[in-house]
Amino acid sequence: MENGKCNGGATAKLPEIKFTKLFINGQFLDAASGKTFETIDPRNGEVIAKIAAGDKEDVDLAVNAARHAFDHGPWPRMTGFERARIINKYTDLIQQNIEELAALDAVDGGKLFQVGKMNDIPAAAGHFRYYAGAADKIHGETLRMTRPSLFGYTLKEPIGVVGHIIPWNFPSIMFAMKVAPALAAGCTMVVKPAEQTPLSALFYAHLSKEAGFPDGVINVVTGFGSTAGAAIASHMDIDKVSFTGSTDVGRKIMQAAATSNLKKVSLELGGKSPLLIFDDADVNKAAELALLGCFYNKGEICVASSRVFVQEAIYDKVVAKMVEKVKDWTVGDPFDSTSRQGPQVDKKQHEKVLSYIEHGKNEGATLLTGGNAIGDKGYYIEPTIFADITEDMKIYKEEIFGPVMSLMKFKTMEEGIKCANNTKYGLAAGIVSQNVDVINTVSRSIKAGVIWVNCYFAFDLDSPYGGYKMSGNCRESGMDALDSYLQVKSIAMPLHNSPW
Ligand code: NAD
Repeated sequence: MENGKCNGGATAKLPEIKFTKLFINGQFLDAASGKTFETIDPRNGEVIAKIAAGDKEDVDLAVNAARHAFDHGPWPRMTGFERARIINKYTDLIQQNIEELAALDAVDGGKLFQVGKMNDIPAAAGHFRYYAGAADKIHGETLRMTRPSLFGYTLKEPIGVVGHIIPWNFPSIMFAMKVAPALAAGCTMVVKPAEQTPLSALFYAHLSKEAGFPDGVINVVTGFGSTAGAAIASHMDIDKVSFTGSTDVGRKIMQAAATSNLKKVSLELGGKSPLLIFDDADVNKAAELALLGCFYNKGEICVASSRVFVQEAIYDKVVAKMVEKVKDWTVGDPFDSTSRQGPQVDKKQHEKVLSYIEHGKNEGATLLTGGNAIGDKGYYIEPTIFADITEDMKIYKEEIFGPVMSLMKFKTMEEGIKCANNTKYGLAAGIVSQNVDVINTVSRSIKAGVIWVNCYFAFDLDSPYGGYKMSGNCRESGMDALDSYLQVKSIAMPLHNSPW
C-alpha cells in the first residue's frame, strides 16, 4: 500500500459472547417477536452473534419496568449516599472486566483493543466513579424572594424515565456518559445501543445486576433505529430522551418528541471540526496533532479535526511532515498492538467513506496520500489527505466519519476564523499557536462548544462537552450533564401568618 503500513494478524484473545438478549427488569429475554439480527466482525465481515431484535413491544415492556422502578421502586427514594455506594460497586466491576469489555468493543466495532483497555473502558468506569461522587451532593437553593413575607427554595428532582439512544463509535464511553449521570440523578432508564455494536452494552447490563441496582433501573433494548429507537423517541411514558448520533436522526428524534408527549430532548450530533495551525507552531507537533485529530478511531469520531487549516508561511512544511508521518500510521487488525487504525465499523460505512473519497477525486481536490480501501477482507481504508480544497466541495462540507482530511491554507487570523466557522456544525475546534493573543481571540471567535489549544481530544470528566449550531443542544460530562437529568421545583410558603 502507498501510505500507512498494513500489519499482520491479531494477537489478543477474542472474547466469548455471553449475552445476546434484551435486558428488561433484571432479566435477559428474547424479543417478543422472537426476531434476531446479526452483529458483524468488521475485520472480516463474519457474523459474531445473533442479537435479540427489540421493537415497540419490547420497548413498552422496558419502559413499564423503568416506570415502575421510578414511581414505586427504591432507586429515586434512596439517599444519594446509598445510590453512590451501588454506582461505586458497578465501577469496581467494570474495572475488573476491562479486558473483556475492550475486546467486545474491538471485535464488534473494529476499535483498537489496546486503546479500549487503556482509554475507553477506564474512561467509562471514570464516568461512573465521577457521578457516584456527585450523587449525594444534589441540592437546590434557598431563595432570597422579592416578597419578604415569603420563604422560597428549590429542589432538584430526577426527571424520571430516560431513553438513551447511542451510536456505535464509542460504545462504552457513550453508554457511561449517558447512564452514569442519569443514575446519580435518581432516574431509571432504557438504553438502546447502536445495532452495529450491541455487545458491550449487554455486558454492562449483566454487570448492573451484579452491582445490585434494583430491577428496572437499567434496561437495555437492542435493535434497530427505525424500530426500537423510534419507539423510544415517540413513547408517551418516557420523560426525556438523550440521543447521540447523526444530525439527520437527531432531527427525527426532536420531531417524535414534539408529536408525542413533548419529552425533553438532549442531542449530541455530528461535526466537521476545524484545526487551525498558525505559523508560529512547531511543525512536527502540529503535523502529529493533525493526524491524530483526523485519523484517531479511524476518523469515526464526532469531533474529528476533518478540516485542517494551515497558515501559509508554514503550509508546505506541515504538509510535507504529515505526508512523511502518515507512513507510520499503521492500519491493521484492532487486536494487534502495533495497529493505529482498525477497520471501519461496517460495510455501509466503508462504502460511504470510499464514495466520499471518489467525490474528492472527481471534484478536483489533490490527493496527497491514501485514497483506497485496503485488502479484500474487512473494512479497512487508508488514511487519506486531500489538499486544494474549495469550500463548495462535498468532502469539505459534509461529515464523512472516516479517515479523510481536507487540508486548506489561510493567510490572516481573521481569514482562519472565518474558514473555521464556515460550517453548519459547531462541535469542537483546535488551535495550534504559542501566541496568547491569537489563542484568546480565536478561542472566543470560533462557534463551537469545545476548544482545544495545543492539544486535541483533551476530554475530561469535569469538562462539559457538546455542540453549538447543528451539532446539538446539550452538554455531557461535568455537572452540566447531571443537571440535564434533574428538574427544578420551586416551593414557596408564607414566613408568618401574615398575608403573602
Ligand atoms: P445514527 O444517527 O445513524 O444512529 C445513532 C443511534 O440512533 C443508533 O442507536 C441508531 O439505531 C439510532 N437511530 C437511527 N435512526 C433512528 C430513528 N429514526 N429513531 C430513533 N433512533 C434512531 O448515527 P451513527 O451512524 O450511529 O453515528 C454516527 C453519528 O453520530 C455521526 O454523525 C457522529 O458525528 C455522531 N456522534 C456524535 C457525538 C457527539 O457527542 N456529538 C458522538 C458520537 C457520534
